[in-house]
Amino acid sequence: MQTACTHLDQIQKVTPHTPNGCEECLKIGSRWVHLRLCLECGHVGCCDSSPHTHATKHFHHTGHPIMQSFEPGEDWGWCYVDELQLNLPPRSKS
Ligand SMILES: [Zn+2]
Ligand SMILES: [Zn+2]
Ligand SMILES: [Zn+2]
Repeated sequence: MQTACTHLDQIQKVTPHTPNGCEECLKIGSRWVHLRLCLECGHVGCCDSSPHTHATKHFHHTGHPIMQSFEPGEDWGWCYVDELQLNLPPRSKS
């Protein structure tokens, strides 16, 4: 059983594309529950509690494995491939 994420070297210093919300939801005028930031390209997508689950769809489309919560005060990450929660350093506030 996998207990460690092997994708940590794919984490980039990303700038969120759409700091105001989920990229796709903003386009279609939809709403989201929580936001997730792709740590490989900076895509902002909505969580699995949101109607469109764009963060998970982004992983399926791109294969980018690691996201971090984009909610204020939340720094935890998630690897979609290993299905592991990750302890990540806090996002730098730009
Ligand atoms: Zn991983
Ligand atoms: Zn969305
Ligand atoms: Zn991405």
